[in-house]
Amino acid sequence: MTATSGPRPVRAARGTSITAQGWQQEAAMRMLMNNLDPEVAEHPDELVVYGGTGKAARNWASFDAMVRTLQTLKNDETMLVQSGKPVGVMQTHEWAPRVLLANSNLVGDWANWEEFRRLEALGLTMYGQMTAGSWIYIGTQGILQGTYETFAAVAAKLSHKGSAIATAVNDTLAGTITLTAGLGGMGGAQPLAVTMNGGVAVCIDCDERSIDRRVEHGYLDVKANSLDHALQLATEARDKREPLSIGVLGNAAELVPQLLAMDAPIDIVTDQTSAHDPLAYLPLGVDFHDMKQFAKDKPAEFTQRARESMAKHVEAMVGFQDKGAEVFDYGNSIRGEAQLAGYTRAFDFPGFVPAYIRPLFCEGKGPFRWAALSGEASDIAKTDKAILDLFPENESLARWIKMAGERVHFQGLPARICWLGYGERDKAGARFNDMVASGELAAPIVIGRDHLDAGSVASPYRETEAMADGSDAIADWPLLNAMVNVASGASWVSIHHGGGVGMGRSIHAGQVTVADGTKLAGEKVRRVLTNDPAMGVIRHVDAGYDRADEVADERGVRVPMREG
Ligand code: NAD
Repeated sequence: MTATSGPRPVRAARGTSITAQGWQQEAAMRMLMNNLDPEVAEHPDELVVYGGTGKAARNWASFDAMVRTLQTLKNDETMLVQSGKPVGVMQTHEWAPRVLLANSNLVGDWANWEEFRRLEALGLTMYGQMTAGSWIYIGTQGILQGTYETFAAVAAKLSHKGSAIATAVNDTLAGTITLTAGLGGMGGAQPLAVTMNGGVAVCIDCDERSIDRRVEHGYLDVKANSLDHALQLATEARDKREPLSIGVLGNAAELVPQLLAMDAPIDIVTDQTSAHDPLAYLPLGVDFHDMKQFAKDKPAEFTQRARESMAKHVEAMVGFQDKGAEVFDYGNSIRGEAQLAGYTRAFDFPGFVPAYIRPLFCEGKGPFRWAALSGEASDIAKTDKAILDLFPENESLARWIKMAGERVHFQGLPARICWLGYGERDKAGARFNDMVASGELAAPIVIGRDHLDAGSVASPYRETEAMADGSDAIADWPLLNAMVNVASGASWVSIHHGGGVGMGRSIHAGQVTVADGTKLAGEKVRRVLTNDPAMGVIRHVDAGYDRADEVADERGVRVPMREG
């Protein structure tokens, strides 16, 4: 028993010498550790990886017990993890996952933050977010590609709209200013995603460390001295049609309304503060340095004030929309929180999934990612090249892989993300496994995905907002997805509640599969990476999307109700 174990810097081992009984277990252990690497995690001492309080382990004693267990776990055993704490080891079989995880799940009537916090305070649960509790968070790059795709879709929409504000040219954001807030683990991708699309971004954060960290990592270009200074820099760059991202310190609930009142020339507005968790959003009139203590001492009062502040923030976003700006919710539940505070127009602007991403989901497409267990950047460079070879016709994929190779700063184990769909992921996975087998790559590759995904999420404020058949809240799909991944041979599989948008608002599943170069891994990778994205196709066929029907026909996805 290591009850006294406490915070310390954690870093995954690199290279080919392993301390577990096999690569599948070693991979799970390295990815757990990698999630908590100070280069990767937002608050590693508290085991918080990203997204407010998203954790990789319940407490340090649980972390130690998981590492210890993974080191002795046999190739026909499975470790069970209940919200960040290992609770059992079962004899299973070689095709079974080595780890099964369930994070933050609560029964419907109890699925709210208040009850969750009560249980968390008793040490009975933890918030797993999405990739934090499923050990496949790879730092800010993870969301960079999705954000890049989303802003590319915004640019395409603006350039085809031809309205007074539509100054985007050739489907880029050149000549536009985007206003957003939140430069945390996920939100920190926004400035680089905007400049990669050629635009100007003004990004507000109340924590100077978040701003400095993004500048340090090359995700943010400059820090402004004041709001006026930020606006001056933004308009100058916009006029020269040059990309530039500017960080500005302050509370978004104050600065966004201020910019609206100033009639600032903003074309696009979104937000990525941690609004899904009202205890992680700084209320108006509270000093940032007092935030934590206040949230701890008076959570109910803090929640109320945070929600009222979000209402002001969202009201100003709606104000920008009324003036013709392109406004969207970027998956943090800020509309829902503002509505709880009594603001009635909160849902006047759409979520980003129905606005831009759903057609991709119909193809089973979403954020596919992998990490090199060797720790060598050259392994990722080789896999980048493999992706370019496999999909030569996909220009936007090629643009992304090239830019990512040049501009993405690795955090922790070298990793890559790109959006691939049904019929593509299995090809990439098989190629990676072959490259490990032939010795072209120095060590195995871990292959997973985000939970921002086509077929493994029920989240009515985000991934399943405004489904064509009204099935937004049907949560059978993520459960089927998890079961399919277990049955197909994934290395670890997880079922979560509340990630991204908060308690009571989502159920989602994750899978990670290790390409260790063996024949068995090749078989598992092929099945998992076929069946996992197939869930996205069938989910959208079932909901009545024509594009999903086409994909099912073209690529041979079987849907019984369409046969016979
Ligand atoms: P984080 O906790 O790492 O960062 C949040 C940032 O917001 C912090 O830097 C904090 O200082 C800042 N902030 C809080 N209140 C503020 C205020 N009033 N004004 C200005 N800044 C404020 O969170 P994250 O990982 O960056 O995630 C942000 C949000 O995005 C979460 O709600 C998360 O669930 C959501 N999310 C969206 C997607 C997506 O695909 N769109 C993916 C993952 C997460």
